[in-house]
Amino acid sequence: MSDLLDYHDALNTLLETHAPVAGTETVGLEQLDRRVLAQDVLVQYDVPAFDNSAMDGYAVCGNDCDSWQVVHRIAAGDAGAGQRLETGQAARIFTGAPVPGGATAVLMQEKVSLDVASNRISLPPASDGAAGVRQGLNIRYQAEELQRGATLLPGFQRLAPAAIGLLSAQGYTHAPCVPQLRVAVFSSGNELVEPGQELQEGQIYDSNRQMLAALLRAQGFAVHNGGILPDKLAATRAALRQAAGNNHAIVCSGGVSVGEEDHLKAALEQEGELIQWRLFIKPGKPFTWGRIGDCRVFMLPGNPVSSLVTFQQLALPALMRMAGLPAEQARPWQLRARADFSRGKAEPRREFVRVALQGSPDGYRVQPLQRQGSAMLSGAAFAHALAEIPPGVQVEPGQELAVYPLAERF
Ligand code: AMP
Ligand code: MG
Repeated sequence: MSDLLDYHDALNTLLETHAPVAGTETVGLEQLDRRVLAQDVLVQYDVPAFDNSAMDGYAVCGNDCDSWQVVHRIAAGDAGAGQRLETGQAARIFTGAPVPGGATAVLMQEKVSLDVASNRISLPPASDGAAGVRQGLNIRYQAEELQRGATLLPGFQRLAPAAIGLLSAQGYTHAPCVPQLRVAVFSSGNELVEPGQELQEGQIYDSNRQMLAALLRAQGFAVHNGGILPDKLAATRAALRQAAGNNHAIVCSGGVSVGEEDHLKAALEQEGELIQWRLFIKPGKPFTWGRIGDCRVFMLPGNPVSSLVTFQQLALPALMRMAGLPAEQARPWQLRARADFSRGKAEPRREFVRVALQGSPDGYRVQPLQRQGSAMLSGAAFAHALAEIPPGVQVEPGQELAVYPLAERF
């Protein structure tokens, strides 16, 4: 396959050669969504913090008694420490309320009968004839889930909403995070016009910049809109140089192919280092990466679908490494699915087809969307996923393919 790099080699190299950006940012609870912890966070209070009831019912002392005298009432939020039960006594108790000293179990209220006159509770005889109540039934004991000093959340993991809940449950107001990635986005091409401006003959509206900005924002990155670069080397160099000084990464599209009007590669070589150019993939062959100082640069092809595919499959995994994720989690999320289509003609390059993904009783199935051209964004707008067809492979119905969900759809 000549001098072109295979997709999987490119992906592995990108994952190996991009690392979390240096430093730590202290981030408040309300900004933690999708952020990545820069270090382990420890348990500061036992979970649960005190023995408490898992049910609405009665805390009892003495699991072999026939009945219990109700002597206390404890609701969630009450300080239960003062109350104690002796054998044969019970406390009316509610879910989350502290279990009184001496309690050996909590009986669900649906299972007991209460004699109102005597304020005594009893259990109906067990159907299997077994006597007694299991020790600790329906009591959530202090520290049974997590003990103070243990790891609450490991570093270098992306915070899911449940993890934010967990931090909150520990009373944390802030957490130490990998700095938010700052990414500058440029488009390149004399033909491009900003939506809202009037189109002249030969011009088109820019689609890639807003698409890429949306993809970056969906990951929680801070996006700097760098605008449209003209097909001029000097102006391109100046814009990249300036953006490199203020951002962790630059993502640009267009101008990276072999035409005389393509200046992005030359600009990168002159301002920094071009590390790789051209991959053996369809669409997206001219995908290029490099660096200007510490700023990582990803140059995507101009055709909008090529931009989308190379961003999802290559630039984004590298950016996720920079955002703090370990390589295995920065990889595109992969499922296996069966083809609901056939394709007789084998394509020499590794191909990423825009597909609809559907569940079925025997697993996921995929079908290509219409309009697969690399300039045809309409064929990608409703895609669920990219299906990978290895080089030289024909596709038979039912054949198993690797499929990469477009994460921002889920
Ligand atoms: P290029 O890579 O500059 O040769 O561009 C390849 C094709 O993609 C050309 O048809 C360009 O007009 C088109 N293109 C480049 N950038 C964009 C963009 N930001 N939005 C829409 N189309 C673009
Ligand atoms: Mg161009």
